[in-house]
Amino acid sequence: MKKKIIAGFLIACISSMLIGCGKANAGSNVQDNDNKKLKVMVSIYPLKQFTEKIAGDKAEVTCLVPDNMEPHDYEPKTKDLEKLTNSQIFVYNGLGMETWVDKVNDVIKDKNVLSVNSSDGIDQRKEGDAIDPHSWLSLKDAEKQSDNIKNALIQCDEKNRDYYEENYNKFKDELENLYNEYQPKFSQLNNKDFITGHAAFGYLCRDFGLTQKSVENLFAEGEPTPKQLEELVGFCKENNIKTVFSESLASPKVSETLASEVGANVVPILTLESNEDNKDYIYAMKYNLDEIYKCLSNESNKNS
Ligand SMILES: [Zn+2]
Repeated sequence: MKKKIIAGFLIACISSMLIGCGKANAGSNVQDNDNKKLKVMVSIYPLKQFTEKIAGDKAEVTCLVPDNMEPHDYEPKTKDLEKLTNSQIFVYNGLGMETWVDKVNDVIKDKNVLSVNSSDGIDQRKEGDAIDPHSWLSLKDAEKQSDNIKNALIQCDEKNRDYYEENYNKFKDELENLYNEYQPKFSQLNNKDFITGHAAFGYLCRDFGLTQKSVENLFAEGEPTPKQLEELVGFCKENNIKTVFSESLASPKVSETLASEVGANVVPILTLESNEDNKDYIYAMKYNLDEIYKCLSNESNKNS
């Protein structure tokens, strides 16, 4: 089984090397485009943010998953694939976030679209048998994903290499500064457990040594059974949990029910899975870290 997977992986790697920015290199597509901008299609919103930070005004970035849509439920339509074949670069998250990506890669493989698995090189998390796809909620993994995106931009548009490198370095500094600001704060806390909507924060937790408990699973599927809800209520009471985080796109009602059962506050948290109000990535992550820290430090005080 393992051998098969590795063989499949190698084939995927070789074919992704063969897919280039053929048209871009040949000088036709890019040159003919409006303002000579690269056309980049990304699968989900955080990748749009990463790509725009690095590409600046050199690319037009569009997102496959429509705004305000829970991406775990998304399937591309024929018109999406048409748009995609007119792009020079397709950036996807990988780690199983896009369950449909093999089909899409099959469609674009002869179309001179550079297909980029942005999570290539990330140490993947597993929960049971399932791979956790939410790598972009880790500041460290976001840096790796942005690096992969930067390399793809350079591959398709070598003449702007310095511009992309400079933008990437700026963004990398922002990511690292935010990590360095919160790492010492979280390391001082006794309480490391928080309650959230769906299990999207595993990579963030890994960065900071925290633990999430969630109302819904990794793929935002299925509201909890009465028994699971009862367990969560028990956990909240036992651990004196005073905050339940809630996502607008994943069972906010269940989060509210849980909070009222245990006398906790409901505080919004941002998974960035979909575009809601064009939130800036750094702004949203700082908001999340700040709210998680406030929640845990209150609870730490009460416990000690
Ligand atoms: Zn998710």
